[in-house]
Amino acid sequence: MPEQIATKENVTVAVVGGGTAGLALASELMRLKVGKVVVLEREAEAGGVPRHCGHYPFGLREYARLMKGPDYAKRNREAAAALGVDIRTGTTVTKLHPGGELGLSASAGTTTLSADRVVLCTGVRESSRAERFIGGDRPDGIVSTGALQSMVYLEGIRPFRQPIILGSELVSFSAIQTCQHLGIRPVAMIEEMDRLIARRPLGLYLLVKSMPLYTGITNPRIIGRERVEAMNFIDRTGQAKRIAADGVIVSGRFRPESALMRDGHLEVDPGTGGPVIDQFGRCSDPAYFAAGNLLRPAETSGFCRQEGIETARRVAHDLERGSTVDQGVVRIRTADPALRFVVPQRIDLSGATGGMTHLYLGLNGPVRGTMAATAGAETLWKGRLNTQPVRRTRIPLDGIVRAAPAQDVVVGRRA
Ligand SMILES: Cc1cc2nc3c(=O)[nH]c(=O)nc-3n(C[C@H](O)[C@H](O)[C@H](O)COP(=O)(O)OP(=O)(O)OC[C@H]3O[C@@H](n4cnc5c(N)ncnc54)[C@H](O)[C@@H]3O)c2cc1C
Repeated sequence: MPEQIATKENVTVAVVGGGTAGLALASELMRLKVGKVVVLEREAEAGGVPRHCGHYPFGLREYARLMKGPDYAKRNREAAAALGVDIRTGTTVTKLHPGGELGLSASAGTTTLSADRVVLCTGVRESSRAERFIGGDRPDGIVSTGALQSMVYLEGIRPFRQPIILGSELVSFSAIQTCQHLGIRPVAMIEEMDRLIARRPLGLYLLVKSMPLYTGITNPRIIGRERVEAMNFIDRTGQAKRIAADGVIVSGRFRPESALMRDGHLEVDPGTGGPVIDQFGRCSDPAYFAAGNLLRPAETSGFCRQEGIETARRVAHDLERGSTVDQGVVRIRTADPALRFVVPQRIDLSGATGGMTHLYLGLNGPVRGTMAATAGAETLWKGRLNTQPVRRTRIPLDGIVRAAPAQDVVVGRRA
């Protein structure tokens, strides 16, 4: 049993997760001179996912330079440290208590820390094979893109030579780049949706690489006794297919890293799997905020970094003025099967300014047509959308907030 260290430490802001969003947020809080800011990071080094993405493109938007992930993570880490952020690595937050008290576990033992505000920035993870209901045998050689990157870039391990890639999101192309680093040659990409999920020009990339793409496949099954030997599936024409491969990369279908919220006191949105927030990033307990990919899987680093900075300003404002949440909130929700989630899910009606300017929509399928946000009989926003799932899809939020709706705002398609 780890030893319980008895301390009574209080900080101004504790940031849980030292990835892209957490480091940017903590750095901005230091620039705003809010007081003591601590980043709690479970890994031995801060920087988050980019630490093991040994490929481009990172940093273009924020540093006007094309960088590889590890260089980008280093730059973020160094910037935070130079501003005086206290980065505590090897420290896992194990429990969130009401009012901003945290349970921590580190090599020295377990302890608690209390903060005037806590910001959750724990990121996302890819869905596992089990979460995607992929049937078949249970041989070695099945990894997520994130696990593959840790093996290849951090440990120099080549787990297979000719894997098959399941999924066709942007991250699936990151898997191809990772494979190239150690001379691994993926044999095919297979996708259950009826089209390539990443933007179309990446389909040309597959053509150039002579890598077959099968979309609209069903019933994928992994075959192999000890090692992966093949993948079976039904192709879009209904034909049974078998592709020989010595590994499977199960890529994408991100889920928020929200284990900490399980059995906790914060309200979780079943649509995103992350915390319910208002337009300031404030959770159901006003001592807690959240930012980055935890809010809605999954965005680029540039987006998460900017969100971290903006959330820092909102937290600083909240510390200075006190929480406004007791002045009323309404929900934003959707009953449209084409929409999986909306973020934020609540509106703080205090009239405070400086919140998010857009409502982020998560899609279950393609959306083409008129979308509206209504409160009762009143239409607060209406506009046309033509977009695909796993694309950044946002509608203006400021007008909806200014309307100060007296009842739930419902977002969905209009005939
Ligand atoms: C395979 C892959 C390739 C990518 N390629 C690109 C790319 O080329 N360009 C680009 O712009 N973006 C890319 N991205 C996206 C980018 O990495 C993310 O958008 C960004 O890192 C998200 O930042 P974040 O802070 O929300 O989460 P993360 O960077 O994931 O950071 C979360 C941090 O929280 C820590 N943590 C989690 N739980 C706890 C806990 N309980 N206690 C303490 N610490 C905890 C984690 O260890 C981690 O360090 C890629 C993502 C993946 C997965």
